[in-house]
Amino acid sequence: MDYKDLANLIFPEAKEISYYEEKYPRRNLKEGAIVTRFAPSPTGFVHIGGLYQSLIAKKLSSQTDGVFFLRIEDTDQKREVENGISGIIHSLKEFDIEPDEGMITETEGKGNYGPYKQSERKEIYQAYAKYLIEQGKAYPCFCTPEEVEQIRAKQEAAKIRPGYYGVWAKCRNNTVEEMAEKIKNGEQYIIRFKSPGREDRKIKHKDVIKGNVEFPENDQDIVIIKADGLPTYHFAHAVDDHLMGTTHVIRGDEWLSSVPLHLQLFHELGFRPPKYAHIAPIMKNDNGNKRKLSKRKDAEAAVSYYEQEGIPAEAVKEYLLNIANSTFENWRRANPEKTMEEFELQLNKMSVSGALFDMVKLLDVGKTVISKFTAEQVYEKALEWAKKYDKELEEMLSNREYSLKIFGIERGNKKPRKDIAKWSDVKDSIIYMYDDKFLNKNQEYPYQVINDKEEINKIITLYIEKYYNENDDKQTWFDKIKELAGELGYAKEVKEFKANPEKYKAHVGDVSTVLRVALTGRTNTPDMYEIMQVLGKDSVISRMRQRGQSLWSTI
Ligand code: GLU
Repeated sequence: MDYKDLANLIFPEAKEISYYEEKYPRRNLKEGAIVTRFAPSPTGFVHIGGLYQSLIAKKLSSQTDGVFFLRIEDTDQKREVENGISGIIHSLKEFDIEPDEGMITETEGKGNYGPYKQSERKEIYQAYAKYLIEQGKAYPCFCTPEEVEQIRAKQEAAKIRPGYYGVWAKCRNNTVEEMAEKIKNGEQYIIRFKSPGREDRKIKHKDVIKGNVEFPENDQDIVIIKADGLPTYHFAHAVDDHLMGTTHVIRGDEWLSSVPLHLQLFHELGFRPPKYAHIAPIMKNDNGNKRKLSKRKDAEAAVSYYEQEGIPAEAVKEYLLNIANSTFENWRRANPEKTMEEFELQLNKMSVSGALFDMVKLLDVGKTVISKFTAEQVYEKALEWAKKYDKELEEMLSNREYSLKIFGIERGNKKPRKDIAKWSDVKDSIIYMYDDKFLNKNQEYPYQVINDKEEINKIITLYIEKYYNENDDKQTWFDKIKELAGELGYAKEVKEFKANPEKYKAHVGDVSTVLRVALTGRTNTPDMYEIMQVLGKDSVISRMRQRGQSLWSTI
C-alpha cells in the first residue's frame, strides 16, 4: 500500500488535476493586466471595508484591461444567510462596481473560470487534495475535536505555541497502512496538509502595499478538507486563485500573517503564487481610541447605510479613493471636471496603516458631487431615493416641472449651490418651496437684526405694495430693495452703513433678510431672486401677507 492507494481510498471519484489545469487555461491578457477578485462570504452584509477593497480591485483591473471577478466563499456553511449572495450583488451594483465574471444572481455565474461559488467546487478541491495525498503532502487526521482541544489545553498549560504541528501532530506519523485501516474501520477523519516548514526559519516576502515583511515559516499541519468534505479558506484560496488566474490577491490585512502558509501551499501544489496586497482597515476614532469600524457598533460600517441615507454612490467612491491614495485630493482639485475613472490608482501608494473614516469629509464630498449634477439628475436621483425611503418627499416631487425649477435654482453656474450632501437632505432643503407645507404653519420666527414686529410689517407691506414686480430682472429687483431700504432709513450699501453706523437703522442686507424670512422662514437660502421667480407672484404675495399679519406671534 502506498500514498497513491491511500489517495484512491479517500477520493476514489476525484479526477486527475490535469483535467482542471486544461479546463481552466491561462488567461490570454496583455502584459501587466491585473486579474483580481472580491471574495466575500455570503452573509448578505457588505462592510464598507469590503466595498473599499472591491473598488480598489475593480479600478486596478479596469486600468490594466484585466479582470475583476466575484467569488462567493461559502465553505463555512454556518455563516450563510438566505439571499446573502443577492445582497452582495445588489450592493456592488449600487456602487457601480460590477464584476466582469463571477456570481450574477443567487445561483448563477458568468465567465469561463467558474463555478464561482466554492460549495460548487467541491470536486475540484478534492482532486487537488488527492494530488497532495498521492505525494505524501497531505494526510487523513483522525483526531476528534475533543482530542484537538486537549492538545491545545496542554500547550496552553505548558505555555507553548498552540496548534497541530511537529510532535503535536499525532496523525502525521501514522503509516499508510494504519491510515487505510482506520478508514476501512469507518473512523471519521479530515484531511490535513503536511507542512514542510520549520518555525525557526524565516521567510521574507514583499507585499505590494506593506512592503518587505518577514515571518517564521509555517509549520502547522492545517486542515485543508473538513469533515463535511468542503475545503478551508486557506486551501480554497490556493486552488481557486490558481485556477482562476488571479494575479493580485487584494484583501484585508488580517490575512497578512497567513502569507507564509499560503506561499507554502502554492509551492507544495506546484502553483505560481500571486502577488499579495494587504489593505489596512478603515478605522474610527472612538473617544480618542482608534479602532476598526465595527459591524456591531457602527451603522456606517454597513454599505446599506449609505443607500438608506441617500449618500450618492459617487460620493462614497470618491471619498474611498481619497483614503486609498492621498494623491487623489490634489488630482481632484486639478481636474474638477474629470470622472474618477480617469484617476490612476496606485497600489504601492496605499497607506500601510488604517485611515480614519471621516463622515464630515464624506458629506462634504457629497455636496460637491451633487453640486455638479444637473437639475434633472438631482431630480431623478432624489425621486428614486424618495420612492424607497420617504413617501412625503416622493409626493412633493410628483410635479416634475416644478421640481426641476426648484433644483435649477443656483445650479449649472460657476458656483453652484452646495447645500445638499445626501438625498435625505433634499426634503428639508426644498420644503419651504411648497405652499401647502409652508403657509398657515405656525413657524418659529428666526431671530435677526430687524426684529421689531411693526418694523417688519412696514418693510413687507411697502415692498409688496410699492416695489414688487414679478417681471423685474435681477438688477432691477435688487435696486428696488435698495430703494425700499433707503426710504425706510436703512443704508443702501453695507459699506455706507459700516462707515456711519449712527446714521442708519441697519442696512440693505438686513432688509433683504426680513423679506427672505417672510418668504421662506429661513435666514439662509439660495438666491432669493430665483426663489421668487420659481414661487411666482401669487405665492410670493400670499407668503408676504401672511407673514405680515399672523406669524409674528412667536417673536
Ligand atoms: N472570504 C475571505 C474574507 O471574507 C476572503 C479573503 C480574500 O479575499 O482572500 O475575508
